[in-house]
Amino acid sequence: MAFFLFLLLHWYLSLFSQTFFLHRYAAHSMFQMHRGWERFFYIFTWITQGSSYLSPYAYGVLHRLHHAHTDTEDDPHSPSFEPGLFPLMFKTWKIYNAINTDQYPAEEKYLKNLPAWRSFDRFAGSDLMRIIWVLIYAGIYALLATSWWMWLFFPITCLMGPVHGAIVNYFAHKYGYRNFRMEDTSRNFLPVDILMMGESYHNNHHKYISRPNFGYRWFEIDPTYPVILLLDKIGIIRLQTS
Ligand SMILES: [Zn+2]
Ligand SMILES: [Zn+2]
Repeated sequence: MAFFLFLLLHWYLSLFSQTFFLHRYAAHSMFQMHRGWERFFYIFTWITQGSSYLSPYAYGVLHRLHHAHTDTEDDPHSPSFEPGLFPLMFKTWKIYNAINTDQYPAEEKYLKNLPAWRSFDRFAGSDLMRIIWVLIYAGIYALLATSWWMWLFFPITCLMGPVHGAIVNYFAHKYGYRNFRMEDTSRNFLPVDILMMGESYHNNHHKYISRPNFGYRWFEIDPTYPVILLLDKIGIIRLQTS
């Protein structure tokens, strides 16, 4: 029981970091926050993504490239050009690393208004720190896993950030329904997205890139959106429209 609680908590907290901080804030600037809160969410992302920490800066550039070049050869991750889930993840990882080490020739327009705490990125994304997190996870598993097969979840735990990314980048560009006819292959992967906290409404998101609520139809509940509204109400963030 405690084991599955850990899995659930890790899944949703790291997913929140990804959708709230990396995606909606860093990549799309859907809301603003003071530097102190920005640093708080950097640390929150580091703790929740752990061994698979993603730099908000590099994620932001990577994701902006995806929106600008969706389903073309310049898209960093398009299932139309990659033969499967793992080749797609591998290519994404290579481009992410190139951006993160300033080896990728991204145009200036993709770098505007990105949070950048590069010294923290180097610390949180270092090999040593990733290894320390893997050892921490191994300790948690040793403590909580009551059957051998529970260790089958271990790779997912260690690669949580890329796993969340791959679900959207691969499946939500291949399977699901569309609310909007678009030039690209984006789809709403799940009609009620409790699993991915709204990230599955990918067709809606490609249509309305700056809209903080990813749900569009009445049944498309975006679990992250009420959290955004609450954080706006109590003054931690400032929504662009308010
Ligand atoms: Zn986006
Ligand atoms: Zn997409």
